[in-house]
Amino acid sequence: MNVYLKCIEANCQKVLPSNTKSYVCPQCGGLLDVLYDFQLGDPEEIKRVFQQRRLSNDPLDLSGVWRYRELIPFCPDPTKVVSMQEGNTPIYEAPRCADYSGLKRLYLKHQGLNPTGSFKDNGMTAGVTQALLMSSKIVACASTGNTSASMAAYAARANLKAVIFIPDQQIAFGKLSQSLDYGGLTLQIQGDFDEAMKMVKEITEETDVYLLNSINPFRLEGQKTIIVEMLAQRGWQVPDRVVVPGGNLGNSSSFGKAIKELYDLGFIHKMPMVTIIQAARANPLYRTLIYQSPRLIPVEAHTLATAIKIGNPVSWKKAVRAMDWTRGWCDVVSEQEIADAKAIIGRDGIGCEPASATTVAGIKKLVQTKEIDRDEDVVAVLTGNLLKDPDYTINYHQDSLFEMASYKNELIERKDKIQSTYSNAPIKVEPKKSQILKLLGL
Ligand SMILES: *Cc1c(COP(=O)(O)O)cnc(C)c1O
Ligand SMILES: [Zn+2]
Repeated sequence: MNVYLKCIEANCQKVLPSNTKSYVCPQCGGLLDVLYDFQLGDPEEIKRVFQQRRLSNDPLDLSGVWRYRELIPFCPDPTKVVSMQEGNTPIYEAPRCADYSGLKRLYLKHQGLNPTGSFKDNGMTAGVTQALLMSSKIVACASTGNTSASMAAYAARANLKAVIFIPDQQIAFGKLSQSLDYGGLTLQIQGDFDEAMKMVKEITEETDVYLLNSINPFRLEGQKTIIVEMLAQRGWQVPDRVVVPGGNLGNSSSFGKAIKELYDLGFIHKMPMVTIIQAARANPLYRTLIYQSPRLIPVEAHTLATAIKIGNPVSWKKAVRAMDWTRGWCDVVSEQEIADAKAIIGRDGIGCEPASATTVAGIKKLVQTKEIDRDEDVVAVLTGNLLKDPDYTINYHQDSLFEMASYKNELIERKDKIQSTYSNAPIKVEPKKSQILKLLGL
């Protein structure tokens, strides 16, 4: 099996060996793809193999990523694979969310039920495995929290040193606590995510430290299996649309690549549209598309959904490609819309972190504008676990969720109140049976 890296820029297309320690094209600075000369044979037969592996106790088969290894065949040595049985996440029908967004039916694939609580595990098992194939001793990432939590865990499993660059402002506590517990060396950079990203890029370019941000194309290979697993769970019934939050745009990029490859290899015969939802004030992709700009229009990002608080997303060109391949599009939702959608996802007994709720909020908006038909078969991907950011949830339900908006060039700090439309506040009550029975209406 031939594995190689290739620059995605049409006028470059430089090819590199897969063990090149380069995260971008050395010739033009473009993003790189991991590509294969696939020789797979009959897709129906491989689908059956995937299905049979669900009965196996082989560690590779128990992983919801490596079970589909024929589609990510970059690791020639199975003993190098670093797995925590990632993936294997449920897909739920969500009737309240469907009602709320105006769809007949809606399915939520919950990547927040991964070992460290986000879809980053799908990618990290692949990224850390590649780090071992490259004989790296130290791995690093800049992170709004979930990447660092995941990298710290997988590095610990692989006996690698993990160095984490996080912004010193606005990181959800659940995520920070994970990095610390898993033993990652955690550096709080004074600045925002984009500044932390700049530092880690420079350091990994100048040293042997291996970069595990989503600019690393091997991580995206692992994330492709989110789509593969979703299709396998649906008996390969292809949905009309897959909706995903957009931050650094790695996940949407990997979805596009998965869908294109599955289509080209004959596993599916239509492509679901990839719809990317950004927060209204962290919307660089949306702006770039609206203004039809050939270059990314970066923004100073503001949102309480910290996982997508990114103004200068590295994978934007791959995300545009994903939308082109699948006739997808991008839209934005407000902080209020995110908060309310998150509460409804909770009411379905499912729950997620704020960034994930952009999906249901976006679907509601697109049904209202008739972009999405009521009958459409839609799968939304919930990216992170409810418990990642308990402060947000508690503040919402206690009617005290504020969006802090301090702009770099302004002296004024604005605090915008988010309405707790679907609040479910705790009730203080004396330890008296009569009072409690009254509250219960009994
Ligand atoms: C990382 C992350 C995102 C953003 O994904 P990108 O690949 O950066 O676009 C969204 N939600 C959660 C919970 C995340 O951890
Ligand atoms: Zn190039």
